[in-house]
Amino acid sequence: MRFDYDYVIVGGGMAADAAARGIRVVDPDGSIAILGEEADPPYERPPLSKDLWRDPSTHEPFLGTAGATDAQLHLSTRVTAIDRAARTVTADDDLYGYRALLLATGGRPRELNLGPSTQVVYYRTIGDYHRARALAGGHVVVVGGGFIGTELAAGLAMAGAKVTFLTPDAEVGARQYPRGLSARIRRTFDEHGVDVRTGTLARWLERSSVGTVTVHAQIGETPVSLAADGVVLGLGIEPNVELALSCGLAADNGVVVDRFLRTVDPAVFAAGDVASYPDAILGRRRVEHVDQATVSGRAAGFNMAALLTGRPLEPYDHTPFFYSDIFELGYEAVGRLDAGLTVLEDWASPDETGVVYYAEGEALVGVLLWNVWDSTDAARALLAWYHEPGSLPDPSVLKGAIRAG
Ligand SMILES: Cc1cc2nc3c(=O)[nH]c(=O)nc-3n(C[C@H](O)[C@H](O)[C@H](O)COP(=O)(O)OP(=O)(O)OC[C@H]3O[C@@H](n4cnc5c(N)ncnc54)[C@H](O)[C@@H]3O)c2cc1C
Repeated sequence: MRFDYDYVIVGGGMAADAAARGIRVVDPDGSIAILGEEADPPYERPPLSKDLWRDPSTHEPFLGTAGATDAQLHLSTRVTAIDRAARTVTADDDLYGYRALLLATGGRPRELNLGPSTQVVYYRTIGDYHRARALAGGHVVVVGGGFIGTELAAGLAMAGAKVTFLTPDAEVGARQYPRGLSARIRRTFDEHGVDVRTGTLARWLERSSVGTVTVHAQIGETPVSLAADGVVLGLGIEPNVELALSCGLAADNGVVVDRFLRTVDPAVFAAGDVASYPDAILGRRRVEHVDQATVSGRAAGFNMAALLTGRPLEPYDHTPFFYSDIFELGYEAVGRLDAGLTVLEDWASPDETGVVYYAEGEALVGVLLWNVWDSTDAARALLAWYHEPGSLPDPSVLKGAIRAG
C-alpha cells in the first residue's frame, strides 16, 4: 500500500516525539507519520534505569505522542529503504511518501555472542525493563561500567536482586570521574551489598544446561567465569546510520547534519542519538542523551515545518546537558567527562557536593555538577567562554565560578 504524508519521521523514540511536537509549533494541520520499529509508542528511556526501579508504582513513561500531535503512529514498522529522488520510504510492503523526512533512528545496544533472551538483556527498551525485572528475584550479573550498567546495577540491587557488577575499569566510573569520587561511588555500591568486580572485562556468554548463564571474563590475562540467573548488559550503542548510508547520505559516527539539523538533502533532517551535528560551543559531535533527543528533535521538527511553510529555518544552538542517578547519588553535566583530561575539582564538601571541570588543550570541555542543581546554564556559559584552545592556561581560575553549596 502507499501512504502519503507531509512529514515522515523514521524512528519512534524521544527524538521522534519531540519532532512531532516541533512540527506542530509551526504547522497545525500538516500530516505526520511516525514509523517505529518497536511495538510501543514513544516513551521516555531514563525512567527505565531509575524511577521504575526506585518505585515500582511508577507508571510506564509513555509520552502521549499521538494525542498531543495527531501524528499517525505506524508501530512494529521497520523502514528498510529510502528513495530520496522519489521522496518515499519503504517498510515491509508499504511505501510512505514524504515532503520532509526526519531520521530519528537512535542507536542499538552492542551485544556479545549470545542474542537477547529472557536471561540475556542488552538494556535499551521497555521490554528490556520487564525482562530485567523478571530476573530481580535471583542472581544477576550486570556488565558494563558506563551510565547504563552503573544505573542498572544500582536499580537491580534496589529491587532486591543479588548483583555482581563487572566493570572493565580500575574503579566504578574511573573513566569519567576523579579518583576520590570514584571511590565514593564504589563505597555506595559496597554499602548496598553489590559485589563489584573492577578490572573485569566480559568476553563471551554461555547458556548452561541447568538454566543459568555464564559470563566468561578476563581480569588482565586471567580468565574468570561467573554463573547467574541472568545477565544485564550496558555495552554502549551503535548509531543506526545504515539507512542514511544506503540512500547516499554522509554518515560516519552519526548522520551528518548542518546547524539546521539538515543533511545535504534539503528535505532530509536528523536528530537525537543518531545525529552528528555542529555543536555551537563544543564543535561537531554526537550526543546520546535525553536533552539532546528532545531539544534537537523539537528543533528538527520546527525546521521541517518551516521548510514546508516557507518560513526561515532556525539554527540549533543548544549544547545539551545530561544527568545520572546512582542510588541516592546524582549529578548533571555538560560536555565531556573524561578523567584522562586535566581535571580541576572544586568541592563544597569533598566527594559529596561540588563541581569538577575538565580541560583539554587549555580549553574547557566539560563540567560535572555533582549534587549541584540548577547550574547547567552557568556550566554552558563557562564552556562558551573558555572553549577556544589556549583560552584556559590556568584552570584554577575556575574555582568558585559555580557555587557548589
Ligand atoms: C535505560 C536508559 C536510561 C537512560 N537514562 C538517561 C539519563 O538519565 N540521562 C540522559 O541524558 N540520557 C539517558 N538515556 C539516553 C536517552 O534516553 C537517549 O539519548 C534518547 O532516548 C535517544 O532518543 P532517540 O529518539 O534519539 O533514539 P532512540 O531512543 O534510540 O530511538 C530510536 C527509535 O528508532 C527505532 N528505529 C531504529 N531504526 C529504525 C528503522 N529503520 N525503522 C523504524 N524504526 C527504527 C528504534 O527501534 C527506536 O525505537 C538513557 C537511555 C537508556 C536506554
